[in-house]
Amino acid sequence: MKNKLIQIIISLIIFLIAFLVPFKQEIINTILFVISYLIVGFEILWKAIRNILRGKVFDENFLMAIASVGAFAIGEYSEGTAVMLFYQVGELFQDYAVDKSRKSIASLMDIRPDVAFVKRDGKIEKVSPEEVKIGETIVVKPGEKVPLDGKVIEGTSMLDTSALTGESIPRDVNVGDEVLSGCINKNGVLTVEVEKEFGESTVSKILDLVENASSRKAKTENFITKFAKYYTPIVVITALLLAVIPTIVFGFETFQEWLYRALTFLVVSCPCALVISIPLGFFGGIGGASKKGVLVKGSNYLEALSQVEIVVFDKTGTLTKGIFEVQKIETKDFKKDELLKFAAYAESYSNHPISISLKKAYGKEIDQKIISNSEEISGHGVRSVVGGKEVLVGNDKLMKQNNIDYTICNDVGTILYVAVDGKFAGYILIADEIKEDAKEIIRKLKANNIQKIVMLTGDKKEVGESIAKELGIDTVYSELLPDQKVEKVEELMKEKSKKGKLVFVGDGINDAPVLAISDIGIAMGALGSDAAIEAADIVIMTDEPSKIDNAIKISKKTMRIVKQNIVFAILIKVLVLLLTAIGLGTMWEAVFADVGVLVLAIINSLRALRVK
Ligand code: ADP
Ligand code: MG
Repeated sequence: MKNKLIQIIISLIIFLIAFLVPFKQEIINTILFVISYLIVGFEILWKAIRNILRGKVFDENFLMAIASVGAFAIGEYSEGTAVMLFYQVGELFQDYAVDKSRKSIASLMDIRPDVAFVKRDGKIEKVSPEEVKIGETIVVKPGEKVPLDGKVIEGTSMLDTSALTGESIPRDVNVGDEVLSGCINKNGVLTVEVEKEFGESTVSKILDLVENASSRKAKTENFITKFAKYYTPIVVITALLLAVIPTIVFGFETFQEWLYRALTFLVVSCPCALVISIPLGFFGGIGGASKKGVLVKGSNYLEALSQVEIVVFDKTGTLTKGIFEVQKIETKDFKKDELLKFAAYAESYSNHPISISLKKAYGKEIDQKIISNSEEISGHGVRSVVGGKEVLVGNDKLMKQNNIDYTICNDVGTILYVAVDGKFAGYILIADEIKEDAKEIIRKLKANNIQKIVMLTGDKKEVGESIAKELGIDTVYSELLPDQKVEKVEELMKEKSKKGKLVFVGDGINDAPVLAISDIGIAMGALGSDAAIEAADIVIMTDEPSKIDNAIKISKKTMRIVKQNIVFAILIKVLVLLLTAIGLGTMWEAVFADVGVLVLAIINSLRALRVK
């Protein structure tokens, strides 16, 4: 970019000399124009030739090349040079704007840690995060970024997670808590055992996501590429006709005049403002959303969000906190804490919110050595061998599947039946809490004219229905296995209109396939599961369902901006083209019009980056 600026300045100085100084031999002026032209335009000429050789004839380089060479051909040296100069200034401006919006996104996401302090042989070494291995211990002092994902083994502190979640309230961490790379350690010194390599850490995943977001093109962007493919040849042919037909009609002496008009027509026609401002608009929208803690993986998803008709929610971990409290334990032959111990051991390897809560309720260290053959049966529960005994923990489906003679419990809440060595041993009643903002998002979605809001859950009918009722969700399907969730969503997909989109919001646990098949999969829980980040199209870093409303608003705003740009650019273009064709436009005006449209479109696009 610096080189380009220098080129432009040198070329401009030579241009001004040629333009202002009346040399005795006029040939000197001409030579100066040619030099000025080549300095600033050689690159474009070269690109045009190279693209022609590659069979890509009709692009903006080609347009600029023939327009400016043509101007020279008819003796309009100053115009020919000026056209190229202006064009390059426009390009410079565009590079600057793209660079700036990229940087501003990068600074929003300024989470890349530069160093890690790792404990090796009793000493603390300063290394780059890539060099730290799983299992090593790192020390994070106050004010530093957490460089890698891991578990706190010493110290307590407050973490600023705002770069990841957009959330300003700091999070308390103590021994045993997970910490994510990219957070900032506020006050205490933390000693952390590294659990993931840098490439697998949250921070790397998020950076990848942001960097690749613009490669997933929205339909509107593809429209522009297609548009340019037809548009350019049409323009070139029109220009050719504009030079030839009137000359035949009005006589050869008017050829120069018509050639000038035709060449101006070509310069005017360059659709660069359009081509640039649209991806820039989406880029801004994606950046704006990330400020709010919503990561959008591509402009296509941002575009789709503006056409949502059906929103489907998963229950556990999405509308509810996924933190279950044990309400009651009933046993037959065992003591209560024995039953809880069996359950916690059996669940030891699972990441399901239920297992995590059970392990927390049990509260003691789990001796992994006595657990074997642990198996998770999704939508049912788990089966493990604990100390030589086969333990089953799960819902009534699991009991039936294994022909366990169990006593049905009718309490309200999620019931975990436990069987030991094929015999029913008791049950644990657990209950989850609804997230604070769950009610609000349902209300907002309804206010936004979303036609259908559905909740899917693998939990009991009574639990599903009572939560749906409390939240104001009209349709709820309960006791679904993961593949039945897929079927339900496929059915719902048929209910939307042709353009409408279905959003599925889940936490990635037992619903990753649904996240993948829906038009837009939104995952909760960057602070939870990796599966979610991978399968989803949009990730809500704060786990707050209400962010969906922000995302939809940003999407609609972005689409408005993009459409404004398209209409504005095409209108001005057509206007100036007409003026040129009838002889009212000069090449000077043409260039100004194009640069002007470009600047306004860029400014408009940057609006998408700003969110309230
Ligand atoms: P949701 O649809 O609400 O997110 P899931 O599909 O993850 O729920 O689970 C459905 C039901 O399957 C749970 O309510 C529970 O009864 C049972 N279940 C699933 N996984 C486990 C597990 N690890 N331990 C015990 N029960 C489980
Ligand atoms: Mg779930």
